[in-house]
Amino acid sequence: MAADEKSMIIIGAGFAGLAAGIYGRLNGYRTEIYEMHNLPGGLCTSWKRKGYTFDACIHWLVGSSPESSMNSIWQETGIAPGREFVYAGEYCRAEGADGRAIIFHADTDTLEKNLLETAPQDKEPIMDFIRGIRMCSAFDFPSENEPLLTRIRKQIGTFFTFMKYGNEFRKWTKITGEEFASRFSDPLLRQVFREIWIPEFSMVFLFFTFAYLSKRNAGYPIGGSMPMSEALERRYRELGGVIHYNKRVARILTNDGRATGIRLVDGTEYSAGRVISAADGHATLFDMLDGKFLDAGIREQYDTWPVFHSLLFISLGVNRKFDDMPLSVSGLSFPLKEPVIIADRMRDRLPVHIYNQDPTLAPEGKTVVTIMLESDYFYWKKLAEDRSLYVQKKEESASLIIKLLEQRFPGIADQVEVTDVATPLTFERFTGNWKGSFEGWLITPKNSYTIMKPMSQTVPGLKNFYMCGQWVEPGGGLPTSIMSARRLIKMICREDGTKFKAV
Ligand SMILES: Cc1cc2nc3c(=O)[nH]c(=O)nc-3n(C[C@H](O)[C@H](O)[C@H](O)COP(=O)(O)OP(=O)(O)OC[C@H]3O[C@@H](n4cnc5c(N)ncnc54)[C@H](O)[C@@H]3O)c2cc1C
Repeated sequence: MAADEKSMIIIGAGFAGLAAGIYGRLNGYRTEIYEMHNLPGGLCTSWKRKGYTFDACIHWLVGSSPESSMNSIWQETGIAPGREFVYAGEYCRAEGADGRAIIFHADTDTLEKNLLETAPQDKEPIMDFIRGIRMCSAFDFPSENEPLLTRIRKQIGTFFTFMKYGNEFRKWTKITGEEFASRFSDPLLRQVFREIWIPEFSMVFLFFTFAYLSKRNAGYPIGGSMPMSEALERRYRELGGVIHYNKRVARILTNDGRATGIRLVDGTEYSAGRVISAADGHATLFDMLDGKFLDAGIREQYDTWPVFHSLLFISLGVNRKFDDMPLSVSGLSFPLKEPVIIADRMRDRLPVHIYNQDPTLAPEGKTVVTIMLESDYFYWKKLAEDRSLYVQKKEESASLIIKLLEQRFPGIADQVEVTDVATPLTFERFTGNWKGSFEGWLITPKNSYTIMKPMSQTVPGLKNFYMCGQWVEPGGGLPTSIMSARRLIKMICREDGTKFKAV
């Protein structure tokens, strides 16, 4: 590829890298993606084992509703056309030792009624929660693909919504799930609100999740993650984009304050007018760029901002139908008869996700079940110094979990046909994400300003170099990865004095 200003090298074929390629091609750039894995999708992936498909990612896709302004990004990138979405009635449920189940319904009215019936004494925090969801439901952000009049109407609507809720909105960005949970007197509700997402997370994130669910704008795509990644790759190739798989980038080459190309781990070098990294942020800045283009702000982020925790992720292929279980976005959790140490910590509840919303993932009459547990990266890193100990701990953890599942689903141990265990090191090995994080930066009160003011996609002192993806989009997720790529190509078009095109 001739290294003129119309040429781009993109590092990583995850959602952000592929989207950068798509929007780059739509705007006349010659793009080549270098991906270290042999597959597209990065974290948005799944894998097959003996007739079962185990999915590492998608629970809900924000923007699934054709009425949503965000849906246009799924149309532009080839993901929405022909895709079928399922809308589960529940986000999750938490069962208590006292026989109660706290159900987090997707529909806000049903959620309100059910929570008030379950814990009338906690009316005040429950109603704050419901009001927060309704506040976030009121936002209807415009998309530039909509007709001009619709856009203007939505812009005016968004302005007035901010006028009405601005202070309230700002207040909730500063309150974490953990702080909010402490307001409940019902012990089960207190525990559940702490665990429903991530305790450090700003409450606004939770409100938006439920607002999207209630508006049927966060469906589960039938077939799961990999078909979406393949659709993205297809769209990119149809536009004439080039991808090189099994090519790990070791260095971003620079000369006189400009990015000029890349060097792969095998030593080969490639040049381009621009380099975009859609790979892990830490590896990009501290390894590929050798820590040479940092300022105090970037250092502070990497020193102090918390990341989404790494996971012990157990997938099971089970010869059983779960017709009695309601469809759910993220499953149920149940109390263990007594606390048990699984891998690095003591657990008193077990979360279980039953994929009965998607029969395509398992043979007829059978079901995929996953258990996703927070687990420390450094614990597994240390164990892996002795390969046999690491493998032993993986096997031990899976056997223990299957045994514990018997407490809630008697007979399941004999029905498990396939077991697959992914640790934080698995996530790191396959996607390069820092400390095995599954979604990049958490949105906490400290960095909640990024909801309104996006992070920079360039670094100080280096021209022609850019970043996109979850490491420049706190909160992570597929829509934000795509949107950051879209925003970036728009910025590059501006630099070149051309009008951005998305179709
Ligand atoms: C368990 C789980 C559940 C999730 N649930 C949801 C959900 O329900 N909804 C949702 O929207 N999001 C969800 N996510 C988050 C979503 O998957 C991620 O935020 C998103 O996929 C990130 O995309 P990305 O392109 O920014 O990064 P990545 O997917 O990490 O892509 C980076 C790419 O760069 C490549 N790469 C890295 N280093 C190099 C190198 N040196 N050279 C070449 N290539 C390199 C990697 O192999 C990878 O392909 C979930 C994630 C997980 C793990």
